Amino acid sequence: MEKQQEFVLRTLEERDIRFVRLWFTDVLGYLKSVAVAPAELENAFEEGIGFDGSAIEGFARVYEADMLAKPDPSTFQVLPWRAATARMFCDITMPDGSPSYADPRHVLKRALSRAAERGLTFYTHPEVEFFVFKEPPQPGSEPIPVDASGFFDHTAHGVAQDFRRDTITMLEEMSISVEFSHHEVAPGQQEIDLRYADALATSDNLMTFRAVVKEVALSQGMYASFMPKPFTEHAGSGMHTHVSLFEGDRNVFFESGMQYQLSKTAEQFIAGLLRHAPEITAVTNQWVNSYKRLQGGGEAPAYVCWGHNNRSALVRVPMYKPGKGQSVRVEFRSLDSACNPYLAYAMILAAGLRGIEEGYELPPEAEDDVWALTERERRALGIDPLPTSLDEAIRVMEGSELVAETLGEHVFEFFLRNKRQEWNAYRRQVTQYERDIMLPVL
Ligand code: GLN
Ligand code: MG
Ligand code: MG
Ligand code: MG
Repeated sequence: MEKQQEFVLRTLEERDIRFVRLWFTDVLGYLKSVAVAPAELENAFEEGIGFDGSAIEGFARVYEADMLAKPDPSTFQVLPWRAATARMFCDITMPDGSPSYADPRHVLKRALSRAAERGLTFYTHPEVEFFVFKEPPQPGSEPIPVDASGFFDHTAHGVAQDFRRDTITMLEEMSISVEFSHHEVAPGQQEIDLRYADALATSDNLMTFRAVVKEVALSQGMYASFMPKPFTEHAGSGMHTHVSLFEGDRNVFFESGMQYQLSKTAEQFIAGLLRHAPEITAVTNQWVNSYKRLQGGGEAPAYVCWGHNNRSALVRVPMYKPGKGQSVRVEFRSLDSACNPYLAYAMILAAGLRGIEEGYELPPEAEDDVWALTERERRALGIDPLPTSLDEAIRVMEGSELVAETLGEHVFEFFLRNKRQEWNAYRRQVTQYERDIMLPVL
């Protein structure tokens, strides 16, 4: 038995753990959990725990339903909010032990191995935004934010402050480091930024993060949501992610003396992100509601361009701090907090790597606020819009060889089918907005 597995079994005894939750993520990004007794774990490490894959969104067709969840002992953590309970993330395999092509964690691992073949590690640092409401959603009524504060507001005895502190304490008990946290622009909106880690660890951390945020909110009598745009009149919740590539302990995005200290590799990576951005948007922004955030306000990007400290751009190169070559990085700003992080990070990496492999040229930087330009001015500058609806995003994705190859055929086909259904269900809806506008005049 491996050392890490032994460590897990020993810790179960020492800490008197009675339930071990085996966690994995479905194709749409929902967390799945099955609890096993500690006595089952040795077998789970060896052979995996069997389950019916056809009942999991996007996993299997009915005739190939048997699947196994194999816990990854390096992800073992005791859950701070539940007595005598621990969790591990799992890899999903087929009965013959081969990796399941439907497992988002496997999709990301495969993308990471393409980078590893070139000696590169992909690091990610997400800024997660979300809302905290006074109570769980009530059908038919607008949610009520827990406070009326705004960006960076400091409020004495603020409920949001206590909420963020308890959340961060819990995350740190689970070895997830937090760098910053603050109130965001909209009422009730919070931001918590995780310390950078390799993209697989970040994705696992994000799944844990979402569970922790929801637990803490409920335990304080509130309700947290990662819905991309709950209010028409307020900014949505993005998940801007800062990315970099390292070769060993050298940041290959950094080159002293170049513009913004960006290496040729970094420029090609950005060029890859820009060229493939429309194709990957259905993955980074996967819900009908995601496109209400991306409509060109509230500091969410709507156009494909890059800029140095330009917050209207899709890709932003943060200001260089002298002597901090290791932290040179690129911020990708379209992702929202309700994406499947495994799939989204696989696509971002694949798009950037394609730029490096093909030696894409970086287009000129957008210097202006691109929202303030006219349509014609943007066209003259070669600045294209991102897809403006889930429908459009799916159509662009359908033709993408890069997305099909990165997600693998099974996930690609499932995703498109599922999202087409979501769009069709949505477009039949007649809304109160239409009645309010049209009944008085028509
Ligand atoms: N909420 C904005 C978004 O949706 C980001 C605001 C900010 O952090 N500058 O992208
Ligand atoms: Mg931020
Ligand atoms: Mg923010
Ligand atoms: Mg940001």
